[in-house]
Amino acid sequence: MIQSKPRKTAVNHVLVILAWLILTISGLTLFINENANVIEKNSALINEAGKIRGGAQRIIKIHLSGKPVAMYLPEIEQSIDILFAHTRSANSFYGSYDEQYFTATLGSWEVLVRLIEQDAPQDEILEQSEIIWYSSNALIAHIEHQTLAYTKRFNLVSAIFFTIVLVLLFVFFVTKHVIRDKIEYGSTHDLLTGLYNRYYFQEALEQNYASSKRTGQGFALLMCDIDHFKKINDSRGHPAGDRILHELGMLLRSVTRTMDTAVRYGGEEFAILMTTNTTAECEKYAERIRHTVENHRFRGNIPVTISIGFCLYRSGMKREQIIENADKALYHAKEAGRNCVIDFDSLTV
Ligand code: GH3
Ligand code: MG
Ligand code: MG
Repeated sequence: MIQSKPRKTAVNHVLVILAWLILTISGLTLFINENANVIEKNSALINEAGKIRGGAQRIIKIHLSGKPVAMYLPEIEQSIDILFAHTRSANSFYGSYDEQYFTATLGSWEVLVRLIEQDAPQDEILEQSEIIWYSSNALIAHIEHQTLAYTKRFNLVSAIFFTIVLVLLFVFFVTKHVIRDKIEYGSTHDLLTGLYNRYYFQEALEQNYASSKRTGQGFALLMCDIDHFKKINDSRGHPAGDRILHELGMLLRSVTRTMDTAVRYGGEEFAILMTTNTTAECEKYAERIRHTVENHRFRGNIPVTISIGFCLYRSGMKREQIIENADKALYHAKEAGRNCVIDFDSLTV
């Protein structure tokens, strides 16, 4: 199909794709950044809980070996403060923590500190060492579990986000193509017959001229007109006339070759641009079309015939000239009694 696509459309296309790309990349960057932040925070929490688990055991060992431990306590207490601060600031999307794990660790730590300060018996301290190990271990497992749950949630949200982006992109391009195809079709076709319209005829004629100049490929213009169509309209009604035009359009499309162009030139007048170098071939082709129409059973059994006038392109022939010649031949076909084919060249010799 011959179409001169406006430059503006291409620019709009690129702009839309760019906007989509920027949006998608920004979204992706935000998501990845947020995910990294949350994982980093949770790793820090696991690290702090690990410090409590290991630090408490170390303090117990030092205490049981009879050395002072007061200087080691602030480090653990700092880890406990960090953990509590995070628990309170975390929102549910990032993973809500169960405070009982934190309070259990804090509680067992406070008991341990009291036992050490009171210089309690070794058995009691060792028992408490087990308790704090378990509570801090449970805390670590809890944070790990919440991190995993968050990651799963994050992956799900990302997958939904990018699926939506892809679906929107797909819908956008499909809609755009469908609309563009429809607009293109509407601007080059006649809706009643499904044939090309007169605007397209001019482009196709230009193309035939260009390829004839370039490659020497000849062509001919056939003008076809329904015989006594007015009578059909008058006797069967305008809608029946429309149905005949529609049916004839389909018939002409099926009978013409793909390299030829069938056009609704006017009301009940059709033009066919065919590639050929010989009058004989053109005559045979025109006869075949005329014969097909004559023998086709139209809806309502209405007899329909067409008259055809054709003109083979000769070097130097102007665009208006070939149209005028084919029209003249058509006029003579009508004069000759209709339902026949007349070659313009046969009139001049
Ligand atoms: P001839 O054999 O000399 O061509 O006779 P004709 O009656 O076909 O020619 P004429 O030019 O007198 O009439 C053409 C008729 O085609 C008149 C017009 O109402 C009808 N016509 C043109 N376009 C349409 C259309 O879209 N639908 C219908 N139903 N009729 C149309
Ligand atoms: Mg007519
Ligand atoms: Mg006419």
